[in-house]
Amino acid sequence: MAHPSGASVRHENCSPQRHDGRPLHAAALKFFWGPMDCGKSTMALQMNYNHARQGRRGLVLTRIDRSLGPRVTTRIGLAHDAIEVTDDLDLVALVRGRWAEGIRVDYLICDEACFYTVEHVEQMAELVDAYDVDVFAFGLATDFRSCLFPAAQRLFELADEVARIQVEVLCWCGREGLLNARVADGRVVREGQRVVIGDTVDTADVRYQVLCRRHHRAGDLGPAV
Ligand SMILES: [Zn+2]
Repeated sequence: MAHPSGASVRHENCSPQRHDGRPLHAAALKFFWGPMDCGKSTMALQMNYNHARQGRRGLVLTRIDRSLGPRVTTRIGLAHDAIEVTDDLDLVALVRGRWAEGIRVDYLICDEACFYTVEHVEQMAELVDAYDVDVFAFGLATDFRSCLFPAAQRLFELADEVARIQVEVLCWCGREGLLNARVADGRVVREGQRVVIGDTVDTADVRYQVLCRRHHRAGDLGPAV
């Protein structure tokens, strides 16, 4: 079985080599995580750019982007069309479908991966292991209660590489920002649905503020609020 990148699909009775005899690229599942505002989507688009420049072809996926559309947008103004991930989207079938159309897919950029399902993460691992497709996932690790998102937990468990992105997002106190607080009516919210859309801008009904662990635990939004 072959797909248009020229790589063999690994299965029994199939040596891990390309048809031209070169070894298969060792695909990997990588998870880059960090709090809101740390530049995850910017890094996702930079990753896509770097790989595309090397002649590789990828798909950009997202779920619940701040634009609320099928796009990856960043706070510093970059944007890229993306495939919206729904509960019933099968990532393996998505890639195989593209291949069937003669479209190369060498890698996936999965932005906002914290909002995917655990099944999606299993499909990411399947794409890496059985199809030699790189998967680069970006997302939050924890929700507003400082508990792991299920998909993030599965990524920590399965990823070949996990890296924390830290682009100097600071708590109001100057400590490193680690956790996302949900803020409504000027107070830190501790209960509610895991996913509620909000931004880090002040005007929203529900907003999020990155805090250090100490101030997340204390529910202290600082003197400016
Ligand atoms: Zn603090």
